[in-house]
This record gives sequence, C-alpha cells and structure tokens, in this order.
Amino acid sequence: MSARILDGAKLAAEIRAEVAEEIKALAASGIRPGLAVVLVGHNPASEVYVRGKVKSSQEVGLYSEQHTPDESSTTEELLALIGELNGRDEIDGILVQLPLPAHVNSKRILQAVDPAKDVDGFHPMNVGYLSTQRPGLVPCTPAGVMEILRRSAIQVAGQEAVVVGRSDIVGKPVAMLLLNQNATVTVCHSKTRDLPGVCRRADILVAAIGRPGMVTRDYVKPGATVIDVGINKVTDRADFDRFFAGNAKRLETFLAKGSTLIGDVHPEVAQVAGAITPVPGGVGPLTIAMLMANTVKAAKLRRGSGVLETTRK
Ligand code: NAP
Repeated sequence: MSARILDGAKLAAEIRAEVAEEIKALAASGIRPGLAVVLVGHNPASEVYVRGKVKSSQEVGLYSEQHTPDESSTTEELLALIGELNGRDEIDGILVQLPLPAHVNSKRILQAVDPAKDVDGFHPMNVGYLSTQRPGLVPCTPAGVMEILRRSAIQVAGQEAVVVGRSDIVGKPVAMLLLNQNATVTVCHSKTRDLPGVCRRADILVAAIGRPGMVTRDYVKPGATVIDVGINKVTDRADFDRFFAGNAKRLETFLAKGSTLIGDVHPEVAQVAGAITPVPGGVGPLTIAMLMANTVKAAKLRRGSGVLETTRK
C-alpha cells in the first residue's frame, strides 16, 4: 500500500492566501506589516532563499525590504543595522539569513534582534516562550511541520512522536511543539542507540538530520506519518540509482539539471508509511509561508491584539 502524500505546496498556498486576507484586513485599519531581510555577502544558496522570501512577501502584500551588507561587514556594523531596524516602527519582522560569514558573531547578532520582531523565532526569549507555552514567535520550519499535521487532520495528542535531530532551528522546536500538543516525544541524535528501533515506535516520525535517504523502511512502523524535513542534493548517478531506480520522471530532471533533491527519508518508505511529505514539495514550501504568517503575527502581537500561539491549533 502506498502512503498518502502530504502536499506541502498546496498547504503553503492555502496559508499564503489566508495571510493575504489578514493583510487586507489590517490594511483597513491602516496597518501594513513589514519584513526586513538581511543578507550578508554572496552565499548563492542564501541568495536563492532570500529571493523566494522577498517574492512571497510581495505576493501576499507585505511591505518588504532587503539589506545586503558586504561580506566584510563586522559584527559591530551588523549590530548597528539590527539596532536601526529594531527602532523602526514600520518594520515588524527582521530576518537575518544564515549562515553569516565566519568572522561574524552569529549568536550576538541573533540575540540583538528585538524578540517582538524575531520572525525566525531563534531569540532565546522566543525559545523560552515556546517551552513555557506563552505567546511568541515560533521558528518557521517547525511551525510548518505542525501546520502540515493540523491541516492534514493527523492526530498529535497521545501519539508517540519521534524526532530525529536536535538542532536549535528544527529538531528541538519541533519536539517542543509536539510536546505542547500532547504527543509523547522522543528526541534522537547521532549518539542514540538502536535508532531504527526507537523510530519504529513512532506514530509520527520527523526526520531532520541532513543525511540523504538515511531513514529506510526498517525505521518506520507500518501506517506511521513520516515528516521529512531534510533537503539534500544528489549529484552522483550511483546515489541517484540507489534512491530513485525506476523513477523515470526523476531521472528526466536529474539528467536535465545534473542533480535532484532528496530528503532524509528514503523514497521506499512511501511503501510502508501511512502518510508522508515529499521532497521537494513537502516541508520546504511551508517554511516561507510560515515566515509570512509570522510577520503578520508579529505585527499583531506588537500592536497588542494578543494572537496566542495556542489559538493556532
Ligand atoms: P543540523 O543542525 O546539522 O542537525 C542535524 C541533527 O541530526 C543533529 O542533531 C545530529 O545529531 C543529527 N544527526 C546527524 N547524523 C545523525 C545520525 N547518523 N543518526 C542520528 N542523528 C543524526 O541540521 P538542521 O539544521 O536541523 O537541518 C536538518 C535537515 O533539515 C537538513 O537536511 C536541512 O537542509 C534541512 N532543513 C530544511 C528546512 C526546510 O525548510 N525544509 C529548513 C531547515 C533545515 P547531533 O546533535 O548528535 O550531532
């Protein structure tokens, strides 16, 4: 039996349409939420991500602006820029695209962002709000994972959830969100013993590892929901064949572009899972949609309309 495909592109379009409606409603009261994106230097992948964020902002009707300080900018110079953006009332969200150049103190930069404008949800204050279930800004990719579950009517409360990965930007916040919604959560990492065995306990398995196709069918309980956060590029033909043998459509893309994307979950898992997110077109599109949603949420929270995280259930 083949798993239900959880179509992230479709869900993201739904969220963007809702956000656009909210922006229209705010416009009636003279409010236009604004997002400032800071992109330091010329990392090609970051440039692609930022272009997507700015384009999406324009489509939903946010005010957006881009700041592109030089690669050689110092921590102090970037702190001054963040300070200026913190002080501007028309800016509701500040996003600092990571990674920053190696000589910049990333932690200091992220901590300098006003927590009320921290649309990435990385500030320690927002991390604390999340873990104590207070209203705040939640990191976009983890928030997107929860939206996929909610909008696909997948039960979370009382379920066994296993998260593989414990990064600050994905694994830990996903685990906290699942816990806040009453799942029984296990967090795994590179030192976990018998990883396949632990993963097989999961009703909901979230893979946020950064290792192409690592989660194979022996990690998955039949019928489980599998959320694949990983985005990895396959450029080698032997790797391609290992993951996608017999997939003519993928082969066409691979031959045309010289690469294809794969998640952390092996495609064979679709034969055992009950529901699964594809890569591409699963969690990825939700990340930008949630950034749009977070900017509107920041605009409302800053103006005291009290949008509680707990209302987004
Ligand atoms: P990360 O910071 O590198 O964290 C990876 C985590 O996986 C770590 O906790 C690591 O364990 C664990 N891990 C690595 N190898 C493992 C193994 N063999 N067995 C068990 N655990 C292992 O990565 P990240 O930033 O969380 O990103 C994870 C993936 O999600 C990447 O593919 C990234 O590209 C993707 N991503 C996608 C989106 C999106 O929009 N869809 C957004 C962000 C990230 P230790 O802690 O023990 O080292």
